[in-house]
Amino acid sequence: MTAEKKPVPHETELSKPYWDAARQGVLKIQKCSNCGTVRHYPQLVCVECYSREYGWTETSGKSTLHSWTIAHHAFHAAFRDELPYILATVDLEEGPRALGRLVGIEAQDLKIGLPLRYSFVSDENGTPILTFHPAG
Ligand SMILES: [Zn+2]
Repeated sequence: MTAEKKPVPHETELSKPYWDAARQGVLKIQKCSNCGTVRHYPQLVCVECYSREYGWTETSGKSTLHSWTIAHHAFHAAFRDELPYILATVDLEEGPRALGRLVGIEAQDLKIGLPLRYSFVSDENGTPILTFHPAG
């Protein structure tokens, strides 16, 4: 039996700047050119003023833990060997929330507000996976 490979994200014109930055190890988010509101994940329209004009801005790298779940069951066979793992919802310093893996901490030490940093970890497909770890 052939081992299953992880699914590869479908890169679009809208998300390409995110993935280009991720491959360089940088988390970039969109910034509305009209009102300055930042947003993540990539979206076509500003969530505040509905403008379609936007640029991209690099995040500070500072964030805090908003919530988490511990995956005990694989939604895809290619993730089975990594169980259990922590999926985190994180408040970026800039305001938006981001989702990612959380590593470098045991489940009993998790707490809301925990300071985090990010890195991008390439999976076997070369996909840069947003990964958080405790700061300091
Ligand atoms: Zn706006």
